[in-house]
Amino acid sequence: MQTKQFQAESKRLLEMMINSIYSQREIFLRELISNASDAIDKLYYKALTDDRLSFDKDSYYIKIAADKDNRTLTISDTGIGMTQEDLENNLGIIAKSGSLAFKKENEAEDGHEIIGQFGVGFYSAFMVADKVTVITKALDSDTAYKWESSGAEGYTIQPCQKEAAGTEIILNIKENAEEESYDEYLEEYRLKAIIKKYSDFIRYPIKMDVTER
Ligand code: ADP
Ligand code: MG
Repeated sequence: MQTKQFQAESKRLLEMMINSIYSQREIFLRELISNASDAIDKLYYKALTDDRLSFDKDSYYIKIAADKDNRTLTISDTGIGMTQEDLENNLGIIAKSGSLAFKKENEAEDGHEIIGQFGVGFYSAFMVADKVTVITKALDSDTAYKWESSGAEGYTIQPCQKEAAGTEIILNIKENAEEESYDEYLEEYRLKAIIKKYSDFIRYPIKMDVTER
C-alpha cells in the first residue's frame, strides 16, 4: 500500500500539533465534535431539498466511545460521510480554518497561542493521538474507506467495510511519557467536562460510552 505525503503546509501544522503543550490539548475534542456536527448539518440541509431523504432527528447523533484496554477514543457521527476523493481533498490538504491558523502562526513568535484562538481543525487530533484512523462512508456510496496516519510521514487510504453512512474517527491515545499523561482522555468525567466546556451548544445528541478496564 502506498503512503501518500501531506501537503507541506499540512505537515507543518501537524508537527505543531504533535508538539503541542498540555494546556491546549483538550480542544481536539471540540474540533472533532464540531466536524461531526457539520457533517450531520450537511445531511440535514440535503434532506431539505432532496425528496428521497427524510431527516428524522432521532437517528442523528454523535457518539464518544473510550476503550481503556485498547487505549482508543472514537468519535463517530451519522453524518454525510466522505468519499475517497473527499478524504484526499479534506484530510490530506490543509482545511480553510487550518490555513487561517497557519497564516497567523507565521506572524507570531511561536504558534502556541493560535491553537487556542482559532479552529485548528482535524489535525488537532494529533495533540493526543499517535495514530488516527478515519472510517467513513459517504451517503449514496457503496464503498467505505479507511484513512490512516501516524503523523507527518503521510497517510494511507484503502477500501473497508462500514454499514451505514457516516464517519468514525479512532484515536490511538498516546502512551504516557515522563511527566506527560494522556490517560485523562479516556476518562468519562474528564471527557464530559471537556464537552460541557466547549460543545454545550451542539444541537445533536452527544452519547458517551466508556469501557472500564
Ligand atoms: P473545517 O472544519 O474548518 O473545514 P477541519 O480540519 O476541521 O476544517 O476539517 C476538514 C474537512 O474534513 C471538513 O471541512 C470536512 O469536509 C472533512 N471532515 C472532517 N471531519 C468530518 C466528518 N466527521 N464527517 C465528514 N467530513 C469531515
Ligand atoms: Mg472543523
